[in-house]
Amino acid sequence: MTGKLYDIQGFSVQDGPGIRTTVFLKGCPLRCAWCHSPESQEFPTELNWMSIRCLGTDSCGLCLNICANGAIIAGSLQKTASGADVIYPEVDKSKCDNCGACASACKAAALYMCGTDYTLDEVMRRIERDVPFYEDSGGGITISGGECLSQSEFTLELLKRCKAIGVHTAVDTTGFVPWATIESVLPYTDLFLYDLKCMDSELHKQVTGVPNELILDNALKIADKGGRFWIRIPVIPRLNDSEEHFTLYRDFLLRIRDAIDIVQLLPYHKMGISKHDRLLKHEKIFVASPPSDELMDSRKRQLEAAGLPVRVH
Ligand code: SF4
Ligand code: SF4
Repeated sequence: MTGKLYDIQGFSVQDGPGIRTTVFLKGCPLRCAWCHSPESQEFPTELNWMSIRCLGTDSCGLCLNICANGAIIAGSLQKTASGADVIYPEVDKSKCDNCGACASACKAAALYMCGTDYTLDEVMRRIERDVPFYEDSGGGITISGGECLSQSEFTLELLKRCKAIGVHTAVDTTGFVPWATIESVLPYTDLFLYDLKCMDSELHKQVTGVPNELILDNALKIADKGGRFWIRIPVIPRLNDSEEHFTLYRDFLLRIRDAIDIVQLLPYHKMGISKHDRLLKHEKIFVASPPSDELMDSRKRQLEAAGLPVRVH
C-alpha cells in the first residue's frame, strides 16, 4: 500500500505534544482562501516552479523544447530581486499533464514535482529512526495534509503500525470526511488536531468551498466517543476574528469542553503566498494584514473567560 506525500518533517514542535515527525499527505477537499500549503490541495503529483532557483532561459533554458505538449516557452524580460535582467520560462498549466520531463531536465531543481508515493514500510523506517526523540520529549507522529483522512486506508494502516510500536499518534484534520472514516481511525488516534475555520456555515462555504455542518457534527461525535482534541482556529482578518464570531466559537467549544486539551489560536500569516506562485496557476489569492497581538490576546481572554484552555500559536 502506498500513500501520496508531499513532505515528511522531523523535529516538529507545532503539531502536537513533544517532538514529532509530521507526515504530510497530499490532497484536500477544502480550498481555504488563506491556505498556507496550497501545494497540498490537489491529489495528484504536480509540477511546481521556484523562481529563486531558476537561472533563466537565456543562460540555461534546459526546460525549453522538452515538453511534448508545448507547455513551456521563454517568457518576457524581467528584473530579479537584485535588479539583474532575466527571462524566466512560462508554463501553460492547461497544457501540462504533469509528466515530469521538464523537472528531470532542470538541473537547478527550479522545476520540481510535488507529491511522492511512499510505501508504509518506507514511512515507518523514517518514523522508527525518530523514536528516541519521541521518548525523551513525550512526542510522536502527526499525520497531516492536505486532509490525511482523504487517504483513509493509508492513514489507518500507518496509525495501526505506530500504535503497535507504542508511538503516540495525532491526526491533523479538517473534519470534513465521513463519520465512518473518523470512527475507523479513532481507536488508533491519541489526539485530533481539529480545525474549526469558521462557525457560520454559509461563510465557511464561501471561504473554504464546503459547509461546516459535517465538521461540527464529527467533532461532537469524537467527543462523545472519548477522543481528545487540540482545537485549531485560524484567526483570519475580517472573516472570523470578531467578538461576535468568537462567541459562536465559545458556545460550540463548551459543548465538547471535556474532550479539549487546548484551543490553539493561529494568527493568519502571509508565508504561504509565494507557494501559490510556485504552482504556476496565477490564481487570485486572499491577502490581509496579520491580526494584531492585541486582537489575538483579546480573543484568547474571551475564550478563557468561559473556562477554556487557550494558547496563541
Ligand atoms: S531548466 Fe530550470 S533553471 Fe533552467 S531555465 Fe528551465 S526552470 Fe530555469
Ligand atoms: S511536467 Fe508539464 S510542462 Fe513539464 S514536460 Fe511534462 S507536461 Fe510539459
